[in-house]
Amino acid sequence: MGKKLAAAQRAKNKKRVKAIHAKIKNTRLDAIHKFTTQLVKDNALIVVGDVKSRSFTNSMTKLAKSTYDAGWFEFKRQLEYKCKYASCQLEIVNERYTTQICSHCGDMSSSPKGRAGLGIREWRCAECGTRHDRDINAAKNILAVGLDRLDVGISSV
Ligand SMILES: [Zn+2]
Repeated sequence: MGKKLAAAQRAKNKKRVKAIHAKIKNTRLDAIHKFTTQLVKDNALIVVGDVKSRSFTNSMTKLAKSTYDAGWFEFKRQLEYKCKYASCQLEIVNERYTTQICSHCGDMSSSPKGRAGLGIREWRCAECGTRHDRDINAAKNILAVGLDRLDVGISSV
């Protein structure tokens, strides 16, 4: 696809460039649809962190960032309406600190932080010694926030 696009751009074939761009967009949309459909089918509860993309602004180009934002927005949009029509609950939670808190003991003194911390994928909690993959640890914390919220919701009924 990239080669075809480059060739069309060199030939200044605007119509073809436009068609290839549309195809890339559709392919991406299709991939998001497949992913969200499967997620809703396989799960009764989906908890998503309300990610802010600002942490990417320094490491990504403007175009990549807008593509990323558009993909993320579309992903959430699809999840919302697909969950509504299936028996799947969707919780979007504030994911603040979820990359910094140890999902095992709750300590956050030894996790990688700040801009430099973004490049560190694995770390060990100094408090309890648990080794963490950054994304898996954050996912566990996001799930915990979602489950906490459900607990509150159920007991207040
Ligand atoms: Zn720990």
